[in-house]
Amino acid sequence: MSNGECIFCKIHRGELPATVVNRGDGLLAIEDINPKADVHLLVIPQRHIETYRDIGVLSPDEAKAMLDFVAETAKRAGLEEYRLMMFCGPGAGQTVFHLHWHILGGSFRGLPA
Ligand code: 5GP
Ligand code: ZN
Repeated sequence: MSNGECIFCKIHRGELPATVVNRGDGLLAIEDINPKADVHLLVIPQRHIETYRDIGVLSPDEAKAMLDFVAETAKRAGLEEYRLMMFCGPGAGQTVFHLHWHILGGSFRGLPA
C-alpha cells in the first residue's frame, strides 16, 4: 500500500531525498528536515498508514518489528535517553498523514508541530 502524493511514500521510493540513518525490513529512519532537538529522527514504516488510529492494520509481528526498530535506531544514534512522539490527527499537530514516530534526543527546541 502506498500513496502517490505522500512525501513519506516518496522518500521510501527514493523519489525525494532524505538523510537516512537506519534501514530495516519495510522501515526507514531519517533525520527530520526541521529538527526540534539536537537529534530529531523520524521512523517511517513503508506501509502508508494515515494515522495511529489505523494501527490495527499491522500484524503483531509488524508492530513489534516497528517498535524494535525505533529502539535500535535510537541506540545507533547514540541516545540512551530520548523522547518518542506520535501525533494523531491535525488537531493533535499531525502534518504528514503517513504514520511516523519522532525520536528526540539532547536539548529540545520546542515540540514538533
Ligand atoms: P508531524 O507533525 O506530522 O508529526 O511531523 C511531520 C514531520 O516531518 C515534521 O517534524 C517535519 O519537520 C518533517 N518533515 C516534513 N517534510 C519533510 C521532508 O520532506 N523531509 C524530512 N526529512 N522531514 C520532513
Ligand atoms: Zn505515505
